[in-house]
Amino acid sequence: MQTVPPALERLIEELTRLPGIGKKTATRLALYILRRPASEALSLAETLSELHKSIRLCGSCFAFSETDPCAICGDARRNTRLVCVVEEPGDLMAIEKTAVFRGVYHILHGVLAPMDGIGPRELKVRELLTKIRKGDVDEILLATSSTVPGEATASYLMEQLEGMQVRVTRLACGIPMGMDIKYADEHTLARAIESRQSMAS
Ligand SMILES: [Zn+2]
Repeated sequence: MQTVPPALERLIEELTRLPGIGKKTATRLALYILRRPASEALSLAETLSELHKSIRLCGSCFAFSETDPCAICGDARRNTRLVCVVEEPGDLMAIEKTAVFRGVYHILHGVLAPMDGIGPRELKVRELLTKIRKGDVDEILLATSSTVPGEATASYLMEQLEGMQVRVTRLACGIPMGMDIKYADEHTLARAIESRQSMAS
């Protein structure tokens, strides 16, 4: 016997695909949406369908943006010769919140995870190296997380940068080992950026 209407069941299934959302939470959210006025559900649906149409990747830093270049890359007050390398767009947002970093970013869109088939080619590594080879960069601040995959990715990049005419720095300590930088508090993250350390290459 069908106890949940199929349309509601479909919504629950879609929501379950989101990270961190189990069946129970998905059901609660679906019922919430259903109880609200139809106009709210429609507005949510329209926002979702517009998302991929209006947002693209910035051709320079690979951040999600409605413009190319993005607002950060297009800002003449930013130092484009200082490039902060992060794993995910969420890390960029965390660093921007500290308001201490005045350079630009390069988003890798992931970390090396050989077991999951994610190698350098799956990340925006080649694009980063091209930028550096062109002589457009003075300093690379490696701001990957201090998790095992984050550290492995930073080590891999350091190897690749060896011998290139670029200063390589890493976020200073203060970020607890194993921590994803987007969860670090603003003050700790700001201090880690300001006291970044040169890496021997
Ligand atoms: Zn950009």
